[in-house]
Amino acid sequence: MKPTDGTLEAEPGRSDRRGSGGWDDVLADEAHLVAPGGEWRSELWSVAVEQFDRAANLLGIEPEIWSRLVEPRRSLTVNFPVRRDSGEVEIFTGYRVQHTLTMGPTKGGVRYAPGVSLGECAALAIWMTLKCQLVGLPFGGAKGGVRCDPNRLSRSELERLTRRYASEIFPIIGPNRDIPAPDMATGEQEMAWFMDTYSQQVGYAVPEIVTGKPLLLGGIVGRQSATGLGAVYCIESVLERIGWNLRGLRVVVQGFGNVGAVIARELTERGAILVGISDVTGGVASTTGLDVDALTMWVGEHRFLRGFPGGDPVAREEVVQIPCDILVPAALERQITADNAPTVDCRLVVEAANGPTTPQADRILADRGIRVVPDVIANAGGVTASYFEWAQDQQKYLWDSEAFAQRLRKQLRDGIERVFASADRFDIDWRTAAQTVAIERFAAAARLRAIYP
Ligand code: NAD
Repeated sequence: MKPTDGTLEAEPGRSDRRGSGGWDDVLADEAHLVAPGGEWRSELWSVAVEQFDRAANLLGIEPEIWSRLVEPRRSLTVNFPVRRDSGEVEIFTGYRVQHTLTMGPTKGGVRYAPGVSLGECAALAIWMTLKCQLVGLPFGGAKGGVRCDPNRLSRSELERLTRRYASEIFPIIGPNRDIPAPDMATGEQEMAWFMDTYSQQVGYAVPEIVTGKPLLLGGIVGRQSATGLGAVYCIESVLERIGWNLRGLRVVVQGFGNVGAVIARELTERGAILVGISDVTGGVASTTGLDVDALTMWVGEHRFLRGFPGGDPVAREEVVQIPCDILVPAALERQITADNAPTVDCRLVVEAANGPTTPQADRILADRGIRVVPDVIANAGGVTASYFEWAQDQQKYLWDSEAFAQRLRKQLRDGIERVFASADRFDIDWRTAAQTVAIERFAAAARLRAIYP
């Protein structure tokens, strides 16, 4: 019976009740905050969990393992001061989330953006775990970032912010613990500052603390083009499986940056016809094919594609609707949505960008018979190259570009073969299949390590 003073009776047989009790009323109002996952609650987290649950259900993962797998193992939130160029001090919030420590050190990027939150980092960390497991890397996933608008920070402010963030998360990172990498608004320079800060603290140079570094500081030859090249290797495997020949196929690429430009070049060199391409300023189309050298020269001179004379201008948002065989979103998330999925005019979508297709659009594409190669495998070339860089720095033995390209191809082709095998086994789409492969490996590792103590 519940005492009227709001305290609870001890459970029968227990005399060691802690606190005054009376939690029932609190739990009734705020159960959503204290339920498992409350810490990570965000839109992106619920998408990650929904996808995870679907795959874990198919695999029949036991509840004990399930709850161990879905929630991040460790997270750190830091608030730290940075002196602005004006002399004023501003406080920034940063995060680092490590999803699983079961298979090895954790690996994942650091982003600078106004929307960075614990929930966003948690979701991105789960996806990093899945990506690493899918291509067989000895890593768990991680993600971190600082909530800021990087475009409003000068170079020296960015340097102070990066160095301070690196020293704030110092207690949980390390070459054998957690290895950061570039993500949104961070690149080689931030990684160089990061590596220097870590090295200053331990007293000797530690290149293997981050990946995506400049070559001179232990970066790896080929890293820059690895994500695009990885997507091309996935396309080759998919075409072999569905019996298409790349020669003569029409391709549209959204985005002409690090990833999109490599894909456009590599596919045309293999005989595909680039019928459309775009960047943030708009798109350009040609039914007879665009010249990638001319596009590269134009962007080299004018920074953007706008005004490129070698094709017909197309509005930015219409590029994904240019008729083609293979559509490659390689720009940003949420580009194929419930609004445009009904009129997307292609036969295959290859997600080089992260999260370019919304869950509703995914269903529409599936109903229309358009297959999707999901981001977790299509852009896994990036993290695979990071793994090579880390291994190179640990071994203190430089890799050449040939070894790099050969191993990248093998790692990705093996990964996509696992996706096909799982799709056949469960008769499911490639996205769910990719998740099942990763979760099955991860669950098996968790069972083997069992529970400490
Ligand atoms: P990037 O900044 O080099 O290039 C992005 C390109 O997209 C630019 O050409 C930009 O103008 C264009 N763009 C931006 N907004 C656009 C819009 N609304 N419509 C059309 N084009 C637009 O970035 P990136 O490194 O090439 O990354 C592209 C995508 O690939 C991102 O989703 C990223 O998360 C993902 N990705 C990148 C890597 C990597 O190694 N770079 C690894 C894994 C995943």
